[in-house]
Amino acid sequence: MQTKLIKVNPENPDPESIKFAAGIIKAGGLVAFPTETVYGLGANALDEEAAFKIYRAKNRPQDNPLIVHICRYEELGKLVNKVPSNAQKLMKRFWPGPLTLVLEKSEVVPYSTTGGLDTVAVRMPKHPVALSLIKESGVPIAAPSANISGRPSPTNAQDVYEDLAGRVDLILDGGHCQVGVESTVLDLTGEVPVILRPGGVTREELEEVLGRVELDPGLAEGQKPKSPGQKYRHYSPKARVLVVEGPIEAQVKKISELAEKLTVQGKKVGIMATAQTRGFYNTGYVLSVGDRNAPLTISSNLFSVLRKFDRMGVEEIIAEGIPETGLGLAVMNRLRKAAGYNIIKLE
Ligand code: AMP
Ligand code: MG
Repeated sequence: MQTKLIKVNPENPDPESIKFAAGIIKAGGLVAFPTETVYGLGANALDEEAAFKIYRAKNRPQDNPLIVHICRYEELGKLVNKVPSNAQKLMKRFWPGPLTLVLEKSEVVPYSTTGGLDTVAVRMPKHPVALSLIKESGVPIAAPSANISGRPSPTNAQDVYEDLAGRVDLILDGGHCQVGVESTVLDLTGEVPVILRPGGVTREELEEVLGRVELDPGLAEGQKPKSPGQKYRHYSPKARVLVVEGPIEAQVKKISELAEKLTVQGKKVGIMATAQTRGFYNTGYVLSVGDRNAPLTISSNLFSVLRKFDRMGVEEIIAEGIPETGLGLAVMNRLRKAAGYNIIKLE
């Protein structure tokens, strides 16, 4: 299949391009498009065949459910059996935005979209391109991240093209994604809301609205996560990744030592540093992922820096950990998985 690439204005996409893209969705095809989190690989969520195509294009395991994207609050009522009051509060506060709600699915949602589950994950994205595509298509759009399963999620059209050229009908290029990590997945089917995947909306923000919010214990290494997608190898560049966590000075010292050792062994080493530390390293290829005082800069660049190291031919990436507050929780969840839990914790 020939993959078409069309540039669109991220703030104000031209209606002709959106019409063309929506035509593909309506015909059961695949369109990759920008959201405020990462690029999504979209298909008609209510069309069983179309949803299957997503799994094939991504090599995604079939028990890993897809998030359904909508553009109007009322559409949620059609996709789920009941909209509980806490869901309504969350929608008011965080939609459109990077929060996905897991609720009991209604009959219209096919099992191919939910990976065989009786629940469905729904979100309303904030990106103008995503919203206008859903609206013009006239159907909810199932869209996981637009990468080959296991690779870092794509945050720009080039990253999508690298993974999915020849596998999707169209890529809408709307520039770089702002949030850079995926949505927070929140399970509302139990008594207490549970974060199945940390993401763009922070635990602290959710607690302001809901009071108590738990983290799925399955998110820890070696545990069985409740969200199917969390159990797979994920976000991994070709290079080996090691994360060094702890106080900043200790991190810099340890990473410098390791980088030197690996370089002497003839390895091409990449250091994922931050704005505050990049100047302290003398060995290896150093890239700053962002500013520790502005975590959105870090989440926004995380995946693209991992992919950049791959393009540079780096064999070993050593990354600084950041505190797990606010967006840091989502960043560290992705980074630890990218490292296959290859972590050094310093005091
Ligand atoms: P992706 O869109 O590729 O970022 O992946 C979607 C994430 O949402 C995966 O981690 C899925 O396991 C999770 N997810 C989607 N639907 C459900 C559901 N019904 N229950 C639990 N987790 C879900
Ligand atoms: Mg994904």
